[in-house]
Amino acid sequence: MHLFAQKPLKYLILCILLIFASSTYCSDTSNDTGTNNTQNDEINDIHMLLTYSILYKTWQGSDPSRVIGKNIGALLVNPKKDTILEFNRNAHASTHNVTQHAESRLIQGYLAKYECEDLTDYIIYASLEPCAMCSGMMIVSKIKETIYGETDPYGGKSLERLSLDSSELPDGYKPYPDVTISKASNCIIRKELDKAQKESGIFIYEFLGTDIAKEIYKKAYNMFINYEVQYKTNQTIYDNAKKFLEQELENYYRAYEELQ
Ligand SMILES: [Zn+2]
Repeated sequence: MHLFAQKPLKYLILCILLIFASSTYCSDTSNDTGTNNTQNDEINDIHMLLTYSILYKTWQGSDPSRVIGKNIGALLVNPKKDTILEFNRNAHASTHNVTQHAESRLIQGYLAKYECEDLTDYIIYASLEPCAMCSGMMIVSKIKETIYGETDPYGGKSLERLSLDSSELPDGYKPYPDVTISKASNCIIRKELDKAQKESGIFIYEFLGTDIAKEIYKKAYNMFINYEVQYKTNQTIYDNAKKFLEQELENYYRAYEELQ
């Protein structure tokens, strides 16, 4: 006899719980890597959703007088992942400087502000997979790990390329030493962005200015605002992330008003 026929009520409750869980949590626990949602995964989800949320609430539209740069941001977190330190964003338009990427501004800005020599073992959450320039800066500043919220099929896999060992080949090279670990976020938002960008056929950097991307970022913001922690020990991390969002938006709107 089929299991459902034996204990229908038990399995109905189980199905309802599974549907509820999939709509509450950010990570797709049945992802193709087989990774389960751990406490650390949830911390990564919270920080990733925060990064998307800041970008959504400060979305860079088509009005050139209001554009700072592309809708790309990066968040710096301490090695324990329990303190959010800084956020920065792409500012290529307002600075007229193509090197003003979110991660490079984040690293250089933080080092200068706090007069630190490096960022040993710190973590960066980047809304887009880091480019070669930012990857190099992560390695030099000793960032331990970067988790990204959208794959860059054009300029991504920079850290992986630096990790390649071609020493077996004629005139080959050893991998670059102490390369920052690069991971794609398990968050379903990352998967939706990757899928939508691929299906749209729009070049990655232009895609980030489309309404398609904005809708997915809006979904990320709603998920963040309504998030319920799976691990109670992550409640403080989530509460701090929400406070960080409020503070960051306050700073952004104040700075924008001063520019007017
Ligand atoms: Zn970059």
